[in-house]
Amino acid sequence: VVQLGMPTRTVLTTCAYCGVGCSFKAELRGTELVRMVPYKDGGANEGHSCVKGRFAFGYATHPDRVLTPMLRENITDEWRPVDWDTAISYTATKLREIQARYGVGAIGGITSSRTTNEEVYVVQKMIRAAFGNNNVDTCARVCHSPTGYGLKQTFGTSAGTQDFRSVAKSDVIMVIGANPTDGHPVFASRMKRRIREGAKLIVVDPRRIDLVRSPHIAATHHLQLAPGTNVAVVNAMAHVVLTEGLVDQDFVAQRCEGFDEWAEFIARPENSPEAVEELTGVPAEEVRAAARLFATGGNGAIYYGLGVTEHSQGSTMVMGMANLAMATGNIGREGVGVNPLRGQNNVQGSCDMGSFPHELPGYRHVSDDVVRGVFEEMWGRDLVSEPGLRIPNMFDAAIEGSFRALFVQGEDIAQSDPNTKHVTAALAALELVVVQDLFLNETAKFAHVFLPGTSFLEKDGTFTNAERRINRVRPVMPPKTGKHEWQIVAEIAQAMDYPMHYDHPSEIMDEIAALTPTFAGVSFDVLDKLGSVQWPCNANAPEGTPIMHMDGFVRGKGRFVQTPFVPTRERSTRKFPLILTTGRILSQYNVGAQTRRTGNVAWHPEDVLEIHPHDAEVRGINDGDEVTLASRVGATSLRAVLSDRMPVGVVYTTFHHPVTGANVVTTENSDWATNCPEYKVTAVQVGLKNPP
Ligand code: SF4
Repeated sequence: VVQLGMPTRTVLTTCAYCGVGCSFKAELRGTELVRMVPYKDGGANEGHSCVKGRFAFGYATHPDRVLTPMLRENITDEWRPVDWDTAISYTATKLREIQARYGVGAIGGITSSRTTNEEVYVVQKMIRAAFGNNNVDTCARVCHSPTGYGLKQTFGTSAGTQDFRSVAKSDVIMVIGANPTDGHPVFASRMKRRIREGAKLIVVDPRRIDLVRSPHIAATHHLQLAPGTNVAVVNAMAHVVLTEGLVDQDFVAQRCEGFDEWAEFIARPENSPEAVEELTGVPAEEVRAAARLFATGGNGAIYYGLGVTEHSQGSTMVMGMANLAMATGNIGREGVGVNPLRGQNNVQGSCDMGSFPHELPGYRHVSDDVVRGVFEEMWGRDLVSEPGLRIPNMFDAAIEGSFRALFVQGEDIAQSDPNTKHVTAALAALELVVVQDLFLNETAKFAHVFLPGTSFLEKDGTFTNAERRINRVRPVMPPKTGKHEWQIVAEIAQAMDYPMHYDHPSEIMDEIAALTPTFAGVSFDVLDKLGSVQWPCNANAPEGTPIMHMDGFVRGKGRFVQTPFVPTRERSTRKFPLILTTGRILSQYNVGAQTRRTGNVAWHPEDVLEIHPHDAEVRGINDGDEVTLASRVGATSLRAVLSDRMPVGVVYTTFHHPVTGANVVTTENSDWATNCPEYKVTAVQVGLKNPP
């Protein structure tokens, strides 16, 4: 129970949950945190908050927190608490031994989108400079990696185009594969305010999300497409724009390239709404009407989520949306743009900080000799010019035997990654698994070293939200573990004979700024003075850049890319006749490690399976029945909830609870360009768990 009263101290910091990045004043009485008060001058939230940010901080002091480093030789042994020096030297020695036996490339690591920019930066630096390879990847691999790829190909940089405020100038808002009222509540409120003022809303989603019809809000069009057909729908909209003469010719002529080739492609009859109507399930006239509205209704803005990226054509769809925005001239001013809604607090930052195996901080390819030379000089080590392993490649190589040790920071891959059986087989095959986290999560069941991490209340650094806004995270209390995560990583690197030392996280940000042109003007002092800044922040934009691509695209001209629709390999069959798609709910967060350990509000206690009443009836399933959910890779059981939010033939669940383990059934299918898993399309069968 939160006790109210006058605080004795307040600390301005940033929410640890979603990519909106709300600012809060943490109010303390003595050393006890008593309230989180949304900050009225917060750039992202302007005094608003949701239930998670305001109330879900109890996990930080939950008794499940592990506060002492622990070791064990085998994963069947009991954990043995040790001091920090022992844990760090054991980790470094084991890593070096494994490299001596199997080669430099036999080890690698995964960074977190929940830790600070500074913590991510030192992990990727440790891997590149101390491990001596590029085997670093981020949990963004399984969410927004197609955003990074698709927006870089078309616009030249891997980030959303607008600030959140911009939505107040939108006339047509298109929400694709996102459920902002649950996933990004504070931004959803801004969006709804604009819709109540008269902006039109187009929702593209297989599920009838709240935005489609809620008090005072109704979507003008809901394109309720079959899962896996996003690209066919966005191409059909572009086909209408082109063939009905709705292209913004001036914008295209002045700002873009590749239009003629793209126009020849998109005009083909197979891209028409009529040609794809049966495939997508969306009436052709509805697609035509939505396309006309988006092209002619004034400022058109696209906001999207994992319903776009987590597909075998996730990257194609990102580029398809960019094509549509460019064709209609909806880039480079307030009220328009292509905007990813990021799930975790620091997804943008973890990508910015060089967590991908092919990119150094600032999205520069490791094969670029000039860029690599700058890093080599600053870091004092030769760096590898070949990209390293992505997360799924690490799993495959672990099973095959060439990859032997993994460092995992703040990410529960055994619960969050697809095809749990495959992931756990890979973890079990490794000689050394090092987990840096708050709790003994599912991944820690396979760990040999547990390095206790710090909650956001103990961190000192920065998070970068979905609108590229760099916010300060200030410590409300000292680290309960006795060490900051960046200190632990630096000490492991030192124990591996790579000199890495910082006295304060501001020094890490100074190094990031010195190496990364888009961050050149960022420092803790600047953030303290301005409150927050949106990158690029440098000599050209000393106070940051709320809206990108205003006078020209980052890559010069915006590039139209042909985006042919290719159906996913995952098909419904006689044995697996339904399609499962997954998502989140408001009261839980990702794998639930934090929200399930917060006692001061009523949390949704279980994952359930939403199933259409027709699909339930033919299987003899009643509301509340326990059902089995099975795919070709695994099976689980959960409670059925009858709901006509789903179309017939599609079922839906969340992935917040390890007991249910929704990812037991999701498959190895992934995006062709980035390997982002296809969580959104799994052929399944559903039946009563205990038939009469
Ligand atoms: Fe935190 Fe997101 Fe809620 Fe804001 S909207 S309080 S950032 S969870």
